[in-house]
Amino acid sequence: MSERGTLVVISGFSGAGKGTVSKALVEKYGYRLSVSATTRQPREGEEDGREYYFKSEDDFLKLIDYNGFIEYARYVDHYYGTPRKFVEDELAAGNVVILEIEVQGAMKIKEQYPDAILLFITAPSIEVLKQRLIGRGTESPDVVDKRMRRAAQEAESIDQYEFIVSNEEGKLEECMDKIHAIIESESCRITRQNAFIDSLKEGLDSYRQ
Ligand code: 5GP
Repeated sequence: MSERGTLVVISGFSGAGKGTVSKALVEKYGYRLSVSATTRQPREGEEDGREYYFKSEDDFLKLIDYNGFIEYARYVDHYYGTPRKFVEDELAAGNVVILEIEVQGAMKIKEQYPDAILLFITAPSIEVLKQRLIGRGTESPDVVDKRMRRAAQEAESIDQYEFIVSNEEGKLEECMDKIHAIIESESCRITRQNAFIDSLKEGLDSYRQ
């Protein structure tokens, strides 16, 4: 029933668990996850081409010049961008494509793809958020502090999103299922079903006076 695919933007404070939720959605529902390019260093366990395409700043700037990104932004001293080709190909194939990106990028996506579903994931409280960032152990106290300050800025943009979902400890399934339900119900929206509606009307042509 779906026409062109559906673009889903998932944003949220660093430490909200966006990565875990997105990966789980890919596994459970077969959604396609866009792999971004970044100039930040890989964290332990991260692989080039899996979590990110890790790029030098020079290469990243060249990709901007080649129009290789549908959006890019600077976040805590580094560039992050969404490669154009994967998203366009997957949407053309009718798939649900997830972009896990920060708020400036999300706003740029909404301008170019007005149908995109904008979703904000958060921890249940700021205290839990900070504890998660510290507990992750991959970030220095300075970076944790920068990310918390960035969260304070990002909170100002929550109103621009359409949905907010809390990712509570031990309730990953619940969070995923809520997001799936949002995507499913959005896909039934009249404005997303023009071709289907036209085909129904066409089938009724001979009954029209
Ligand atoms: P991290 O360094 O923790 O992996 O990501 C930092 C932030 O950058 C997160 O909020 C993440 O969602 C965001 N991000 C990752 N990829 C992209 C991208 O391609 N574009 C934008 N605008 N933000 C991104």
